[in-house]
Amino acid sequence: MEKDAFELAKEHFYRYAEPLQLPRRYPKCDILERLTTPDCSIQNRLTFQRDDGSLQVCQAYRVQFNDDRGPYKGGIRFHPAVGQAETKALAFWMYLKTAVVNIPFGGAKGGVSVDYPSLSLQEKERLTKRYAMVMLDVIGPEKDIPAPDVNTGEREMGWILDEWRMIHGKYQRGVVTGKPMSMGGSQGRREATGRGVVYTITEAAKDAKLKLSGASAAVQGFGNVGATAARLLHELGVRVTAVSDVTGAIRQPKGLNIPEVLAHVQAGHALAEYPEAEAFERDELIVEPVDVLVLAALENAVTVENAPHIKARLIAEGANGPVHPAAVDILNLREALVIPDILCNAGGATVSYFEWVQNRQEFYWTLERVNEELRRVMLDAYRQVADLAAAHDVTLRDAAYRIAIERVAEAAVRRGVQ
Ligand code: GLU
Repeated sequence: MEKDAFELAKEHFYRYAEPLQLPRRYPKCDILERLTTPDCSIQNRLTFQRDDGSLQVCQAYRVQFNDDRGPYKGGIRFHPAVGQAETKALAFWMYLKTAVVNIPFGGAKGGVSVDYPSLSLQEKERLTKRYAMVMLDVIGPEKDIPAPDVNTGEREMGWILDEWRMIHGKYQRGVVTGKPMSMGGSQGRREATGRGVVYTITEAAKDAKLKLSGASAAVQGFGNVGATAARLLHELGVRVTAVSDVTGAIRQPKGLNIPEVLAHVQAGHALAEYPEAEAFERDELIVEPVDVLVLAALENAVTVENAPHIKARLIAEGANGPVHPAAVDILNLREALVIPDILCNAGGATVSYFEWVQNRQEFYWTLERVNEELRRVMLDAYRQVADLAAAHDVTLRDAAYRIAIERVAEAAVRRGVQ
């Protein structure tokens, strides 16, 4: 039987943890078991009312994986593929991600298995507030702090904050991050993940001896992360020759005018109908002949089938788990420099941390300050990972996992045994 997403994630963790010899260094702690078992995994039936008065049942999840380094942190996704195993895998990666960039959080993830975009605005609000209600005592500003993920954003975070404050009777903004600015959100949070992706690409390009200005790029996914990354790459003088989203893909070898493509999509048109480009099969975007490939869609976009045909020299994992674990070694053989997800896409979680800090102080930063701090965190993390990779002659993924696992293991054993 096919292994599920969580079993695969665990297998990989063991592989990266192996050289660290944790059981020998921390004897009698059951350390590997502790680091690979979620602290708490919740599944609830969620019932919400449709506009025609009928009720619809779906499953709601929240997995709190590890809080040894700080409160649980992680997004909420509304997507038909959401399930127990996927949510566990995503929560697992969250605690590794917060550790790689060294922000004082653990890791969690939540979601609802639902075709969210097909709901009306009122149905979306009812569903989101229902989710907040179901998770009322599970989340909290010092316990577990949700944020946006696939199909959720400022609007949903605003609704969750409202529900939480109506029932708890107090305004605690730090219960969610990625909320609207008018409710205490942070400057720069919306584009933080995409911006962080581009900061790591800029650093990795130096290591790969790739001049970004004039280089070509393809971006898979044109949601918040992909669209921001495409725009910032375009601003850096990169020729973004292909982009794709759920509706299709477009290519323009001269380079797409990304601000125009964005305006086209924001006006409600399908990406594939953008007039100044050729539409093509979205599955083919991964193998476009480009220098940089940004993976900013969902998990398992790179498979054992398409990995051997990838031409990019630099691959940035803007999504979580975009490379199927079975394809990781194939990619490694291709000599492409791969910036792993737990490092590459950590910019969102990082600015979530800044938002939480601002909420605690009720003192708000300028956009320049947010971006400067984000740059510092991402560049420091990238450098630590790249230096360790060079010192041990391993991939950036091995190095990122080693750094994260070391940090969490250290905190886990410092808790004591009582
Ligand atoms: N959902 C985003 C991620 O996967 C952001 C998480 C957060 O800000 O807590 O990194």
